[in-house]
Amino acid sequence: MIDTQPKVKNSEIFSAMADLNHEQVVFCHDEALGLKAIIAVHNTVLGPAMGGTRMWNYQSEEEAVRDVLRLSRGMTFKNAIAGLNIGGGKAVIIGDVKKIKTEALMRRFGKFVNSLNGKYWTAEDVNMTTRDMEYVRMETPYVTGLPGKSGDPSPVTAYGVYMGMKASAKKAYGSDDLKGKKVVVQGAGHVGTYLIEYLVKEGAEVYVSDIFEDKIAGVTSKFNQVKVADPNELYAMDMDIYAPCALGATLNDETIAQLKCAIVAGAANNQLDDEIIHGQALKDRGIIYAPDFLINSGGITNVYYEQQGNYDRDRVYEQTERIYGVCTEVIEYADNHDTTTHKAALQLAMNRISDVGKVKLAY
Ligand code: NAD
Repeated sequence: MIDTQPKVKNSEIFSAMADLNHEQVVFCHDEALGLKAIIAVHNTVLGPAMGGTRMWNYQSEEEAVRDVLRLSRGMTFKNAIAGLNIGGGKAVIIGDVKKIKTEALMRRFGKFVNSLNGKYWTAEDVNMTTRDMEYVRMETPYVTGLPGKSGDPSPVTAYGVYMGMKASAKKAYGSDDLKGKKVVVQGAGHVGTYLIEYLVKEGAEVYVSDIFEDKIAGVTSKFNQVKVADPNELYAMDMDIYAPCALGATLNDETIAQLKCAIVAGAANNQLDDEIIHGQALKDRGIIYAPDFLINSGGITNVYYEQQGNYDRDRVYEQTERIYGVCTEVIEYADNHDTTTHKAALQLAMNRISDVGKVKLAY
């Protein structure tokens, strides 16, 4: 029998949306397929909301809602500061990837994306593959990052991180030359490996760390001058630059107290365990933090050009190179306003949204 008076335990969705300023949240459900997805459209002032779809075995619906709200908001600021004409959005699919992911489920999800008529554009994120995106594409044109189009975003992301690192070095050392600088790259994955290539070429003294031996071996066999960092000693190492390219939240109470570097610049998302507290803690220690959402925006720039329908790898690199200038502006803004670089980057992103919003209203 259908319960016509369902119990809605969590009635605080609207207040959560109000806290983070979301425009729209869409709950998508198909019982037969086991699909439970949430699409969050945070802000569409600059253009349609764009952000990937993540599949995760969340422990509760509340956790999934929190994640999609937080991630979609992050996309608004990332897309804005990257200078792209898109807003911020994100989708999560709740469930164990090994148990629920099927062609039918992905296509059903595609239909939900399509129902938003282009207000939200999706792409690949955690636990998604380009094949999954092809299934989504069978039901909607509002998907980007398809096979055979813009390709692997990691090299572009690495280039942006490299630009952010150089801009930070210019501030810290008066020169953006990384020759001889001791850089510790945490995570020898896609982005980390491309970043190491740039650093080695420039003559930096590179150390790498990973939880998998084969990943480390992949790097050290390609670049034999790269040394291996002891993961237990990593944060306390005598280094100039720490480049987190693995997981988020590595900048926390415990690690910041150990850091002796002048710069933190890496690709990982959400590096600051707490945006306010740990942004400030780095500032207090005199460490220049290149905001993650700014310097890792090369990946979204890559799929953005695909979405625009005029993909050109050279244009993507030109746009990504601008991260150097924006990062310099962020560092200056933070200095002049006695604030953290994280807050400065958020402010510059919000200023752009506000300014462009006014232009859009003009007649
Ligand atoms: P990846 O999975 O290819 O690489 C991550 C690497 O980190 C893996 O080799 C993994 O073994 C290693 N790792 C995990 N835990 C570790 C630990 N505790 N210590 C050391 N190494 C550890 O991922 P990726 O595509 O290179 O992305 C790296 C980071 O950058 C991720 O946080 C990702 O969200 C972010 N990012 C990536 C892109 C992109 O274009 N790929 C764009 C924006 C942001």
